[in-house]
Parts: sequence; C-alpha cells; structure tokens
Amino acid sequence: MAAASGSFDVEAATRAYLDTLQGPARAQSDAYFEGGYWLILWGTLVGILADWLLLRFRLAAKFRDIGERLSNRRWVVTGVTALLYTLVATIIVLPWTIYTGFFREKQYGLLDQAFGAWGGEQLMNLGIELLIAPLLVIAIYALIRRAPRSWWLWATGVIGAFMMVGMVLGPVFIAPLFNDYTEMQPGPLRDRIEAVAAKYDIPAEHIYVFDQSKQHKRISANVSGLGPTIRISLNDNLLERTSEPEILAVMGHEMGHYKLNHVWWIVGIYLAIFAAGLFIASRVAPMLIARHGERWGVRDIADPASLPILAICFSAWMFLMTPATNSLVRIAESKADAFGLEAAQEPDGFAKVAMRLSEYRKIEPGPLEEVLFFDHPSGATRVRMAMEWKAKHVKDPQVVVPEEGYLDSE
Ligand SMILES: [Zn+2]
Repeated sequence: MAAASGSFDVEAATRAYLDTLQGPARAQSDAYFEGGYWLILWGTLVGILADWLLLRFRLAAKFRDIGERLSNRRWVVTGVTALLYTLVATIIVLPWTIYTGFFREKQYGLLDQAFGAWGGEQLMNLGIELLIAPLLVIAIYALIRRAPRSWWLWATGVIGAFMMVGMVLGPVFIAPLFNDYTEMQPGPLRDRIEAVAAKYDIPAEHIYVFDQSKQHKRISANVSGLGPTIRISLNDNLLERTSEPEILAVMGHEMGHYKLNHVWWIVGIYLAIFAAGLFIASRVAPMLIARHGERWGVRDIADPASLPILAICFSAWMFLMTPATNSLVRIAESKADAFGLEAAQEPDGFAKVAMRLSEYRKIEPGPLEEVLFFDHPSGATRVRMAMEWKAKHVKDPQVVVPEEGYLDSE
C-alpha cells in the first residue's frame, strides 16, 4: 500500500501545499504584503514629518511654555510637554493611521470592524499612551539632567523596566479592554493540548480563547505575560476555522516560545537596539539643537521641548534597524516552529496553518526579501520545514494533497 519512505519527496510534498494558493488569492496576498514594505518607509517619514512640524512651528516649545506656566517643578513641565506632544503628534498622523489601519485593511478584506468600533479601539490605545508616555518621558528627562553623557544607558534600563511591568500587567489589564478572554472549554482537544504541555513541563492550567473574530478572520495565538501572568491564548478564528491537527500545531509553536524563553530573547534584542538608538540620539540631538535650537525654541537637550528631536533620531534609527529586528524575531519564530513540529507531531497540520497565514503574508519571497522584510518565516519556508520533519520522523510518509477550498473554510 504505502510507498516506501525513501520515495517521499520533500519538494513535491511542499509543492502540493504551495500550489493550493494560486491566482487572484495569491496575487492579493503578495500585493498586501509587498505594499507593507513601503509602509515601513512611509510610516517612518510621516512620523518624522509630524515631529518636524512640531519643531518648525515651535509647538513643542509652546507645550513646554504651557507646562512652565502651570508649575515650576521640572517633572510637571516635562509631563505636560509629553502629554501634549503625544496628543498632537497622534492627531497630525491620524490620516495616515486611518488609511493604513482601516481603509487599507478593508480594501484587502482583512478587517471586519465598522469605523466606529475601530476608532473606539484607537481612542483606547491613545488613552493608554497618554497615561504611560508622560511617565516614561519624565523619567528619561530626569536622567538627561543628571547624567548628560550617559543618560542613554540609564534610559535603556528605564525602558526595560517599563516593558517588563507592561508585560506583567498587559494580559490582565490591557488585553481585556479590547477582547474577551475565556478559559478554553474542557474536552478532547484541550486534553490533547495539555498532554503536549505536560511532556515539556509547561503549566497549562490556563489556556485562554479570545474573541478576535469581531476584529478580523485571521487565525492567531500568542504567549503573553511574564512571571505570574504568563499564558498561552488562542483566538476564536483558530478554534473555529481550523482542524484539530492545525490547532495542535499552533499550540506546539506557542509552547516553543514559552519553553525557549523567547520573551527574554525579544526583550534583550530590543533593548540592545534601543540602547544604540538612544546613544545616537544623545550625540546627534545636541548638534541639531546647536544649529536650529533657537529657531525651534529648544534651549538644550534637557529641555523637554527637545522631545521631537529625540523622536526623529530614534525613529530614523529604528527604521534602519528593521531588517535586523525582523531577522532576530524571525530566528526565534523559526526555533518555535522546529519545537512545535517536535512537540505536536502534526507536520501536515502545521503546513496547513502556514498556508492560511499566507493569505496575508507573501508565500514565496526571494531569500533576501525574506531576510529583510519577514518577521516570521514565509509560508514556503514553513511548509518545507514541516515536510522535512515529516520525511525524517513519520513512518511511511505520504504526500498530502490538501482538499480543495480548505483555505476558504469558515
Ligand atoms: Zn510565533
């Protein structure tokens, strides 16, 4: 009956999957994703333009003046400046935010929210930013005043502390503002997930399902939280649109993130890149202020009106670092893929999921394209990895030709 395992051709098995995303669906996915490359550039430029406008029209200086009228305490002045900066910068970039976040997503059929619901979430995001940004900026400017040369290093530590507090509290206080999280129902599927978790000593007394179908149809799962709040959550799209092997494959991947401590890896990567960006800002900003400070109403780098200058330096740096951050995250994702294949033992489930994710992530990019722009392995890379695993670990592996239309199943 079955062909000998020697005859299982990884390339043919991979192709059988990739061939199921063709024609207009594939063209649409490519267009959506490739358009995203340009959005990285334009998004950075729009942000820099907003900062430049705040300087050119001396708005940042006005925000500081308002703060100085309200109080002579420096932290209050800084907090007021940061609050007004966050608010006005958000308003300036609003048309861009609405185009990329709402109209473009709608155009590709990737958003199921009405404008009001979407806008409400944006307002909540802004509210959270208005609470947190002033605290962070107050801390950073206090460090600039005390350590004019080395503040960038201390500021990196402060950002790290903010990130960790945010990660501990996020799943408990922030995420529930946007979605309902409920315990996954007991049953055979949950039992299978818990059995996989038990193999690796991963605590699985809590597995959460969240109602992301109200936002869009994309399947998704994640590990969030830190220390006492760490947990795995999957969205209702994954649970309802896909088959059991697919769900297990995704959960195996998420357990990989958990078991391989990727939270710390990601935090470490970002802090190293932030440190370099802040260092550059700490050296470039004083030069810009020496040249243009008078025109912009910015006295020196310790003046909170210099905030847009720091923001320009920092966002230009983060833009240049995009291929590095993408690649470092993609390496972690690839390791979680390998872990998940081993843990769930569902290579065909994993391949199907990779195909579904390719509905909005270009499926077969060139090698350099994948390095520069992909923060997850491409569909082709993932399917191939799954088929390689299958060739090695499954007895008498067979080429699976996915059933017609499985990508559209709701
Ligand atoms: Zn992942």
